[in-house]
Amino acid sequence: MSAADSPLLSVVVPMYNEEEVIPLFIERLRPVLDTLGDSYEVLTVDDGSVDATPQLLLGLRRVWPQVRVIRLRRNSGHQAALTAGLHSARGAYVVSIDADLQDPPEKILEMLTLARARNLDIVYGVRTDRSTDTFFKRITAGLYYTVMRRCAGRAVSPNAGDFRLLSRATVDVLKTLPEHQPVYRLLVPWMGFPSGEVTYAREQRAAGRTKYPLSKMIRLALDSVTNFSASPLRLATWLGMLTFAGCLALACFSVARHLLGFTVPGWTSLFLVVLFTGGVQLVCLGLLGEYVGRIHSALQRRPAYFIAYDTADPAGASTPTVPRLPTQPDAAARNSTAAMAAPAKDGPR
Ligand code: UDP
Ligand code: MG
Repeated sequence: MSAADSPLLSVVVPMYNEEEVIPLFIERLRPVLDTLGDSYEVLTVDDGSVDATPQLLLGLRRVWPQVRVIRLRRNSGHQAALTAGLHSARGAYVVSIDADLQDPPEKILEMLTLARARNLDIVYGVRTDRSTDTFFKRITAGLYYTVMRRCAGRAVSPNAGDFRLLSRATVDVLKTLPEHQPVYRLLVPWMGFPSGEVTYAREQRAAGRTKYPLSKMIRLALDSVTNFSASPLRLATWLGMLTFAGCLALACFSVARHLLGFTVPGWTSLFLVVLFTGGVQLVCLGLLGEYVGRIHSALQRRPAYFIAYDTADPAGASTPTVPRLPTQPDAAARNSTAAMAAPAKDGPR
């Protein structure tokens, strides 16, 4: 597709095991896009689903030609799936939206109208009401955004997730950033391009269960902090200094007790000091390890994801309806097209 053929709008939808939600999502999305009165593509990124998601998406293409399917060969995480979508989207504007209908597709048109009317590069979907989220989700998300606003700046909205519109210029800049594990909800505000907001009440997941278990939430949080701040390393230094001061005081105390002849009692304090210093050292080592690990994987420059097929790719158009992923030698050759950008598994949202 040449630049002249590029659609006005690409809607990027990462999906991981969303078989229950796809029919409901399509039912809401299609009427919205059909009233657009301009060209669009719905770029679904199947993040290595192991349920009927790939079959449903390929089947959908028969009745909705604007649907494009990119399948990743393995589950690479929400942010990596977003990266795959952003790197492949061809629209003049690109909207990213979750598949579970927590973000209302009807707001896409409002975002587009606002961006065009005010010549904006970014329009954030901002949640005005998170009451449908679980208590745990609200607490972890609150904590996450408090920390991240300190690390990445006040431009990070505590209520904006990954439902947003980006202009072509913004997507092109994002594609050039060397981030190894991008966290878009921080990276996009950091860019500081002209932006606006569209507000909405966060709805409940329409079907299925969250694809963000605690492990993915922790990983997103770690990626977010290490991407934007070296403060944890400074925290390690402060902890070390505090421990040193504490140990110095205890050393004076124990020498004084020795000189006064009280040497036998003290097992408990000794035990506590050993435990405490050991704990602090381990925490500091762990923090250091997080950064070293990220430097290591950034240096390796391994792709964030591997594309099994892209229905817009002429070679991928003949992809079988039922993907035979692990044993497809021809698809392996196309893996070289996998973006070198950033992976990322994910977290508190
Ligand atoms: N997702 C994905 N890969 C993953 C996890 C999630 O592509 O490894 C997609 C998922 O299908 C959904 C979006 O990311 O479209 C957000 O996930 P979810 O709604 O489960 O997260 P939550 O809203 O519970 O934080
Ligand atoms: Mg959700």
